[in-house]
Amino acid sequence: MKVFAIGDEINHHVGDAQCPECWEEYPEPCPCGGLMHAGSSGEEDADGNVMLVTLCDRCGRSEDTEPE
Ligand SMILES: [Zn+2]
Ligand SMILES: [Zn+2]
Repeated sequence: MKVFAIGDEINHHVGDAQCPECWEEYPEPCPCGGLMHAGSSGEEDADGNVMLVTLCDRCGRSEDTEPE
């Protein structure tokens, strides 16, 4: 099992739709066919919501990044 890191969470499972490190409803399907993982960034926005960091395990894109 390959693992990769998002922030301080270093145990995200590549290709595992039941990734144990992921935030709530993640991972989500990425348009590339990989999985978009999410972890807490350790910060909150102005409304007190935890800010997530997302990263695809295949293409390495973040969900927040618009395609060019
Ligand atoms: Zn994950
Ligand atoms: Zn992707």
